[in-house]
Amino acid sequence: MSPRKNPAPNFYAGVPLDRVDQRRADSGYIETLINDPHCVIVPVWRAKHLIGEAAEAIWLQRTQAEHLITLARESMFLGLRQEVAYLAVDLSHLEEPEIEPLAEAWGSFRDLRAVGPVMDRRDSAILAYARGLVHWHARHGFCGVCGSPTVSEKAGHQRRCTNPRCAAVHFPRTDPAVIMLIHDGGERCVLGRQAIWPPGMHSTLAGFVEPGESLEEAVAREIYEEVGLKIPVEEVFYHSSQPWPFPSSIMLGFYARAEFAALETAEDELESAEWFTREQLRRSPEDETFRLPRRDSIARRLVNDWLAEG
Ligand SMILES: [Zn+2]
Repeated sequence: MSPRKNPAPNFYAGVPLDRVDQRRADSGYIETLINDPHCVIVPVWRAKHLIGEAAEAIWLQRTQAEHLITLARESMFLGLRQEVAYLAVDLSHLEEPEIEPLAEAWGSFRDLRAVGPVMDRRDSAILAYARGLVHWHARHGFCGVCGSPTVSEKAGHQRRCTNPRCAAVHFPRTDPAVIMLIHDGGERCVLGRQAIWPPGMHSTLAGFVEPGESLEEAVAREIYEEVGLKIPVEEVFYHSSQPWPFPSSIMLGFYARAEFAALETAEDELESAEWFTREQLRRSPEDETFRLPRRDSIARRLVNDWLAEG
């Protein structure tokens, strides 16, 4: 399969905000934006978002939710949507009995993985962005260099160590993971299954990129480790990427062409892995015997685009 040109954004990509990153250090500018009564508050509580009954994102105006800003243990400027600022506020320190009455008037706190596939794509991208940033702050309260407390800077887009002899700056981190559909250049592709997945679900292989390796090398290594196929890096082709803040990855999607051969499944990684034909995938019953990956995943996108090529 040849590299594709400009694939449409995957789920959770395409955040419809101007991040104004060149002005985040200008605290006067940022303060004016977030003090505007139209500023939109995006509450995050223990990796969950405020979601309405029709699985829609709830955007609170500052005037409705002033108290949430005061309560927040950390807040982060996400960007501007038609000149209106979006501000993520982390309320995770509140206990369930405290958070429930706060949410009640508008909806409830729900996991994006449960509602993302049916939400407005742009709204879900904003929520994914907020979730990822909140997660990073929550885990970087102390300096990884000297262990002193850190403080948020640049409107929530970096943290600095408070120890003046250290003063290390820490940036929000995203862990690169490769995810790949192996095919034989014809009608067959490889899907695997992990025991912890929902019954019947089969998906592409994936794994984290290690220090000192290219993305193509990571793809080839993971494939060899998981199913025993040797693939030269020349047969690895980039497709597209996807923010996947569950909790902190970016998924880098590839196709890899392999000679059709028996698979040697690594039992500690996969419950099973098999070659499937396009016809088998098109006839997927989508039940406990066999189902394709989640609709919002890049794995599904890789499968769908491969099916469309045949
Ligand atoms: Zn430090």
